[in-house]
Amino acid sequence: MKSIIVHGGAWDIPDDMLDEHRAGVSNALTTGWDILKNSGGALDAVEAAINIMEDDPTFDAGRGSFVNMAGQIELDASIMDGRTMRAGAVAAVRNILHPVTLARAVMDKSEHVLLVSDGAMRFAHEQNIPFCGADDLLVGREFERWKEIQTRPAYSGKEAFAGNTPARDTVGCVALDDNGNIASGTSTGGTPNKYPGRVGDSPIIGCGTYAVNSVGGVSTTGWGEAIIKVVLAKSIIDAIDMMKITPEDAAQHGISILHSRVEGYGGVIVLTKNGKFGTAFNTPRMARAYMSDEMSEPVVVV
Ligand code: ASP
Repeated sequence: MKSIIVHGGAWDIPDDMLDEHRAGVSNALTTGWDILKNSGGALDAVEAAINIMEDDPTFDAGRGSFVNMAGQIELDASIMDGRTMRAGAVAAVRNILHPVTLARAVMDKSEHVLLVSDGAMRFAHEQNIPFCGADDLLVGREFERWKEIQTRPAYSGKEAFAGNTPARDTVGCVALDDNGNIASGTSTGGTPNKYPGRVGDSPIIGCGTYAVNSVGGVSTTGWGEAIIKVVLAKSIIDAIDMMKITPEDAAQHGISILHSRVEGYGGVIVLTKNGKFGTAFNTPRMARAYMSDEMSEPVVVV
């Protein structure tokens, strides 16, 4: 049984940006699905699908990411292998277009789970992960936004996700391959004008990303400071495992914990070991797409 689900962030996506979001998650899904169809593994599908969205300037991941308070782009990413429960993550890395690939190198080539900032970049050099210029990550839209934010009081993370503000577009993917292996990954530029060195939920295993073959996998998006406090991704996996609920109910359960306990906003994608999907969000919209052996064509929704 093969299944894959991707997300391109939970926020109030404006009407005039719906098409590019649909195209972006659809391209990522196709790339990951092609790998699964050709007997590729779940980890490869997740990494490749996320790479496509890191390349796509529509999303707050890789190229197109938000600029931080110091005028830099700092990226976070993680990936987890549900077969072995190995995991890799990087946080606050600069000049790397594909931080999820660096996260995978941390998982595959080091004994560590999370490397940050200069240490993560040193490891990237050692592993021959390509570096890019800051200009390769920065798009005009985000430079203009950053300049505009400097002219007024900053909004809080909660305001950014709750209201009609530009918080958005973290990307993630969960895949199940024919061997029953589940992998999950998440990549982000974080939140607009974030404090230098700020790390959100996306690279924190159990919060932004989680996968265990015997249950399923999750990737989250939304207000990172809230998501971390409820350990959102693992809470959803535990709910499926212990309460024997559907992935749809588990996704809703996760979002209701996020909102009721810490007034959080965001969205989640869930995939179980049986290849069943769940999604939930309490923002106005979340871009997502999914496909499985049981479906004749992919579903793409924003
Ligand atoms: N969760 C991400 C963060 O807080 C942002 C997002 O999902 O849009 O860094």
